Amino acid sequence: MNNCIFCKIVKGEAPSWKVWENETVYAFLDINPVSPYHTLVIPKKHFVNIFDISDFELREVISGVREVVKMYEEKLGIKNLQIVNSNGHAGQQDVFHIHFHIVPREEGDGQNIRWKTFPEWRSEFDEMILKLKGQ
Ligand code: 5GP
Ligand code: ZN
Repeated sequence: MNNCIFCKIVKGEAPSWKVWENETVYAFLDINPVSPYHTLVIPKKHFVNIFDISDFELREVISGVREVVKMYEEKLGIKNLQIVNSNGHAGQQDVFHIHFHIVPREEGDGQNIRWKTFPEWRSEFDEMILKLKGQ
């Protein structure tokens, strides 16, 4: 993809701080870190998001995520982190080349991911399951 910033990073046409790579996957520090070692893990090939990536490439990327996590655990002692992947505009995806965030966390780091919950929607669960069965 010509205009994709992450494709440019993979090709070395844009700068990045690489932490790990293999034949299919590239991992680098996020330019706007929310914590130390905030990392993005991407396939070297361009896929928009979870809806168009192949099973093979997705497995490669998630294995790459774990390689980086293991490295951070072994070399930095990191034991707390979040893995985040967003898909689609309303799904809060901003860069349309699939990526997984690795966000190391520490007690009292000032970060907080909290979704608003709607327990009252439990009453709709039966109907929701029926919809999946096409009834
Ligand atoms: P999203 O919101 O799509 O899940 O995350 C996109 C991420 O890409 C953001 O955290 C943003 O900081 C990061 N990002 C955008 N452009 C660049 C860039 O040129 N270099 C790096 N290293 N990260 C980028
Ligand atoms: Zn791309």
